[in-house]
Amino acid sequence: MFVDVLLDRPLPAPLVYRLDESNAGSHVIGSCVVVPLGREETIGIVIGFNAAPTIDAAKVRSVRRVVASVAPLSQHWLALTRFAADYYQHGWGEVAVPALPPLLRKVPGTRFEASLARARAKSDLQALPPRDKAVQLTTEQREAVGAIGSARGFAAFLLHGVTGSGKTEVYLEAIAERLLESESAQALVLVPEINLTPQFEARLRARFAGLPIVSLHSGLPDAERTAAWLAAHEGRARVVLGTRLAVFASLPRLAMIVVDEEHDASFKAGDGVRYSARDVAVKRAQMADLPVMLGSATPSLESWRQAREGRYTLLTLPARAGAGATRELPSVECVDLRAEAPVQGLAPPVRDALATCVAARDQAIVFINRRGYAPVIACAACGWVSVCRRCTTFAAFHKTDATLRCHHCGWQTRVPVVCPTCGNPALAAVGHGTQRVEEALHELLPAARVERIDRDTTQRRHAARDALAAVHAGTVDVLVGTQMIAKGHDFRRVALVAVLNADSQLVAPDFRAPERLFAVLMQVAGRAGRAGQPSKVLVQTRFPGHPLFAALARLDYRAFAERELADRAAARMPPFVSQALLRAEARSLETALDFLRAAALEGGKVAGASAIALYDAVPMPLAKLAGVHRAQLLVESVSRPALQRWLPIWLQRVREMRFSPRVRWQIEVDPQEI
Ligand SMILES: [Zn+2]
Ligand SMILES: [Zn+2]
Repeated sequence: MFVDVLLDRPLPAPLVYRLDESNAGSHVIGSCVVVPLGREETIGIVIGFNAAPTIDAAKVRSVRRVVASVAPLSQHWLALTRFAADYYQHGWGEVAVPALPPLLRKVPGTRFEASLARARAKSDLQALPPRDKAVQLTTEQREAVGAIGSARGFAAFLLHGVTGSGKTEVYLEAIAERLLESESAQALVLVPEINLTPQFEARLRARFAGLPIVSLHSGLPDAERTAAWLAAHEGRARVVLGTRLAVFASLPRLAMIVVDEEHDASFKAGDGVRYSARDVAVKRAQMADLPVMLGSATPSLESWRQAREGRYTLLTLPARAGAGATRELPSVECVDLRAEAPVQGLAPPVRDALATCVAARDQAIVFINRRGYAPVIACAACGWVSVCRRCTTFAAFHKTDATLRCHHCGWQTRVPVVCPTCGNPALAAVGHGTQRVEEALHELLPAARVERIDRDTTQRRHAARDALAAVHAGTVDVLVGTQMIAKGHDFRRVALVAVLNADSQLVAPDFRAPERLFAVLMQVAGRAGRAGQPSKVLVQTRFPGHPLFAALARLDYRAFAERELADRAAARMPPFVSQALLRAEARSLETALDFLRAAALEGGKVAGASAIALYDAVPMPLAKLAGVHRAQLLVESVSRPALQRWLPIWLQRVREMRFSPRVRWQIEVDPQEI
């Protein structure tokens, strides 16, 4: 007997192996198998029998063993991974095999057996605890839960509500209703970053106390992640909470999917198979015929469009729902930097507001999306500036350890004492990062307790969590930090939020930059005024008349989204067209560009090319990264099916192209950063 086996290799088709008659029942389909590949052994997945291998039967190697301790993967799971592979233009095995847990991928040995035993030891199914009587849902929350509860078969819901409007209660109750329907039903909850949402996890565990809940994310030790995957695969875990990789978890009794913060860029894989876990989640719900709920205070424009065109059901939670205290929305004001020159990065009205806030014993958040002390140091005498030796970008000045660092490739060096070009000893830090703002805050508010959170302060595991806990406990007066402080934390005493460098994203070349800026500003604004006291958000900008700020001032996502969508429609940009990006990396920029030009030429010859727009090959915004030159070629179509038909044929021709010198290339479907 011969079987087709998926392997984690960029292969156009599965490989054929011989299988003993004793193993050859239909139950073997979906099984994990250990097979020889070259001189090594590797793990693969059997997808079917092969009656007539096209290669010489004598050359077909044998399956070493079937991993009998793991039940076969379902047809649904196989179909899901195949869809993702086709859609994102990768080999099926490159999606399916990496979706297996780590200890199973590494040719299962004794550690795997131990994980298996450990997972099964905690296997007792328990009844769903009754609803906590203290949880009173608002009318809108009840309506949202009801809408999802009455859905039969596939249905997609977009739950739109500002931070603090009570989306989590809706998720929990909707999940509870599904879990009550069947003793074995499973729910999948996807979140952008698990370590930054401890409160969400805590609430999930509190609501479903006693019910087997597992977490699935890349931060777990291999054995733990493997045990969690097995618990899901064997139907013992009733709720699976995970990051994007969990969208491919094997869940035989899946009844519902929730994607929280669905707009978050973390749901898109940044390397390898660049899938969108949100999009795969919706497809999974459709394939398995079950409901999916996407939630956000600032939905992606893709999801918003689906909702306004009726393909998703829009559920809105209008105001803040409070347990106890009435919650007020903050007032949002722009500080015009043209009229109010900043001192040490802080405009006078921001300095005054900080002083007032701290004097009143309230807490303040200062948000600046740039770490380090300053983004660049420069010599006024000769014009020298600090640049990364390996990238086309500046090297940031980190004062705490006197280094220049590249935030893109990690290159670092001691900060020079004098200008490397002219010897001038007076080198100046230009611009502001979190470290410099922290220093300014110490000077401005000598008695205040200032804490900084950015990637440099949070190298240690749980460092971010501990710092945020300090804010909760009230032992911090002013918190300064990057995007890391914006996500999913419920601060109760924050009366002031200051946003220092919004403009850097307002004028960025990527057309999605305003969408991302609006989302992060809404999130930051959501940190203020949670406990009913008046609170405000001050945004420093040189463009106070920008419509984005007008929508922000009213905390009006809808106005922002409608305007932005109209602009995108007029300019024929996503979500009104579908795109793919071919990226090339080479020793020189010209080589990368030449490769893409040759690829574009091939693309024009493929049948159906008239429906595809091929743009010019251009250097990537960061044209050199870690010594590698990079260029990109954007292709798009108003018809997603046309693009999907054209892409695989084109990419096959690109693979067959004779091109030297060597170029590494990769394709991304639905690119989020261009
Ligand atoms: Zn100089
Ligand atoms: Zn660099």
